[in-house]
Amino acid sequence: MLNVFGQPRALAQLQRSLHAKRLASTWIFAGPPGTGKFTLATQLAKTKLCDRPEHKTNASLGNDKIPLLPDSFEITLPCNTCDSCRAIDNKGGGSHPDLHIITKELIRMHDATGKSKGTTLSIDVIRGEITGDPSESKESKIGKRSFRGRGKFFLIDEADLMQNQAQNALLKTLEEPPPDTYLILITASPSELLSTIRSRSQIVLFNELPDEIISPRLMSSATPLHNDEAALISRLARGSLGRALRWADDIRLIDEKNAKAAERKSKTAATADPASDEDGGGADSDSTDTNKFTPGGILAWTHNLSGCLDELTAGRAAASDLAALISQYAAEHAALALQRDRLTSVDRAKRDGICLLMSIAAEWFADRLRQTLGTPHPTPLPSTTGALDPLLVPKLITSARSAEAQIDLNVNDKILLAATTTQWEQLLKRE
Ligand SMILES: [Zn+2]
Repeated sequence: MLNVFGQPRALAQLQRSLHAKRLASTWIFAGPPGTGKFTLATQLAKTKLCDRPEHKTNASLGNDKIPLLPDSFEITLPCNTCDSCRAIDNKGGGSHPDLHIITKELIRMHDATGKSKGTTLSIDVIRGEITGDPSESKESKIGKRSFRGRGKFFLIDEADLMQNQAQNALLKTLEEPPPDTYLILITASPSELLSTIRSRSQIVLFNELPDEIISPRLMSSATPLHNDEAALISRLARGSLGRALRWADDIRLIDEKNAKAAERKSKTAATADPASDEDGGGADSDSTDTNKFTPGGILAWTHNLSGCLDELTAGRAAASDLAALISQYAAEHAALALQRDRLTSVDRAKRDGICLLMSIAAEWFADRLRQTLGTPHPTPLPSTTGALDPLLVPKLITSARSAEAQIDLNVNDKILLAATTTQWEQLLKRE
C-alpha cells in the first residue's frame, strides 16, 4: 500500500491501525480531490483482504520508507499475487466479491426513471448497494457474510454527494456494524457529512501534494510532458495529482482527435470518397464528432487567456473579447468532462470551467504583483505585460476570486463574466 505519494501521515495512521489489529469499522478519508484517497482506500482493502499479507520492517522499504514511523516498525503489505490481490488489481477492484465500490454512476442501476444525471448519491443507491430495503425485498449486502472469509469493504466515493436521507439510512448500519465489515467514506468536503456520521468514524486527513511530487509524475505519465509544461500544470493543479493527470489525459485525447481529423481530411482530399472511411461510422458522424473538439486543453487555455489579459492591459482588447474567450473555454472544458463521463451535468462542468479560468486569471494577476516585488514565481504564467501597480493587483485578484465564488451560487454566468471582465478593464485603464 505504498503506491500513494506524498501522504506519509495517512500511511502511518493506517499502518498503526493494521499493526494494532484494531481497524475501525467506519473511516472518512478526507482531503482535496486527486490526492490519493481512493487509491489508498483500495490499498487498505487489498491489504486486509489479502490471503498472505507480508510483513516487513519500515527500514527495509528503502525509498518507500514511511518517515513518520520508526525504522523497526512492522509494515503490513499485500502480497500482490494471491487470488484476492489479483481480483483487486483487475478492473480497479470491480471484480472482487468482498470489495464494493459505490460511486454516483451507480444511479443508472437504481434510478427507475433513468433521468438522474448522477449528481447525488440517493437513498436508492445506498439501499441497493449497502443497506438493502425489506419493503422492496432488496437484500442487505452489508449484512451478508463475506465470500472469501476475510471481511468485506464498502468504499463510497464522493460520499458528500449522499443526500440526508441516504446518510440517515447508512447511520443505522454504523450504529451496529456487522463483524469484519469496513466502510470507507471518501470526500473532499467532510463537513457535508452528518455530524452523527463523522463522530462514529475514524478520520484520515490527506493534504495537498507539493509540485515536486506532481511534476515528475506528469513527465513520466502516459502523455509525457516537457519540463516547463509539467511545471505549469502542477502549479495550476494546486496540489491535486488527480486533476493534473486528468488534464494531461485531456491533452492526449485532444492530440489523438486532432491527428485523426487531420488524417481523415487528407484522406477525403485524396479520394474525395467519404464512403471509404474504415471506422464504419461514416464520414458525416465522424466529422460532427471531431467538430466538438477544438484544440483546447489546460495549456492552450492558459496561454491564450494570458495573451488576452496582456491585450486587455495594453488596451488592445475589450472586456467582451475576454468574456467570450472564457465562455468558449468553459464550453470546451465541459465537452472534455462529458467525454470522460457521459453522466456529467454539462451546466456544472461549464461552471467548473469558468472557476478554473478565473483562478488562472487570478494567478496571472498575482504574477504581476510578484514582478513588482522582485520575487517572480519559479513557474510564471506567460505574459508580456510585466509589473502592475501594486495597489491595483489585489483588487483584480479579489474580483477574480469573487467571481469564482459566485459561480457556485448559480449566478447567471454570462452576466457574471460581463461584469467581472468589465471591472478588470476599468481597473486596468486607471493603470
Ligand atoms: Zn495477496
